[in-house]
Amino acid sequence: MSAAPTVATLLRDATGRLADALALDRSEARIEARALLAHALKVDHAWLIAHDRDTPAPALRHAIESLIVRRAGGEPVAYIIGEREFFGLNFVVGPAVLIPRPDTELLVEAALQRLPEHPSCRILDLGTGSGAIAIALARRCPSAEVVAVDVSADALAIAQANARRLGAANLHCMAGDWYAGLGIKKFDLIVSNPPYIASADPHLSAGDLRFEPLQALASGDDGLRDIRRIVAGAPAHLADQGWLLLEHGFEQAGAVVELLQQHGFEQTCTLRDLAGLNRVSGGRWPNQPNRQARPGLGAGPAG
Ligand code: GLN
Repeated sequence: MSAAPTVATLLRDATGRLADALALDRSEARIEARALLAHALKVDHAWLIAHDRDTPAPALRHAIESLIVRRAGGEPVAYIIGEREFFGLNFVVGPAVLIPRPDTELLVEAALQRLPEHPSCRILDLGTGSGAIAIALARRCPSAEVVAVDVSADALAIAQANARRLGAANLHCMAGDWYAGLGIKKFDLIVSNPPYIASADPHLSAGDLRFEPLQALASGDDGLRDIRRIVAGAPAHLADQGWLLLEHGFEQAGAVVELLQQHGFEQTCTLRDLAGLNRVSGGRWPNQPNRQARPGLGAGPAG
């Protein structure tokens, strides 16, 4: 009878299988294999290193095997283990929400840099999904009021669970189609990582994207349908000097900046992601002297 495999052997075997099945390089496959082993054994990475000569019981080996089979079939690691780190926080994720991407941290950083000085600012995250952007902002600005909107009830349930788990008491989740449920409420900052992929883009049927909600990814023939709605609706919901910041596809910066300018935004800018690609654009809503001059219509308290 051959000896039961050690943790080290199981890890090596899983790495090889994932590298082959998904055409990953070995270091990437090893990271994934380690995450799946740790999840199946309910241990952390340090444990795996310290116990690499342990021989997991057959039931645990079967648990590992079933996770490796799922991943080799293409299912994203984040959905299999049910979480993903974003901005130093661990978010629960599932197939109802987009998996938070490291590139989106750029949007959070850009937002933090542009928040107004006053502590009680109002932030809106449109299409919040797992709540990653909204909760990262809420945690960094505990005195801000953060509203997170999503049209999907399943996504909102996940965002709410994440807010509770991560202690973002200043986050309010709201169901709605972009601005539809917000009335006349105004914000100092609006952020969004909306769907922005053209609906016929072949990437939608490859890799992790195949498993993610199409509603969170695809946006009409040119990928700009939702961004157009968000830009057009923003002026009615921005306080004077408020910022709108949007994530977009790497070839969409020109179109997004043009849209922002057409709608009267100033100080338009585009920022590059970790790969050096144009990924976030934004603009600032100018002072509206007419509105300020008329009592009762100024940028007073939201509500
Ligand atoms: N950045 C994601 C991707 O291309 C898409 C996210 C989105 O559409 N908001 O994989």
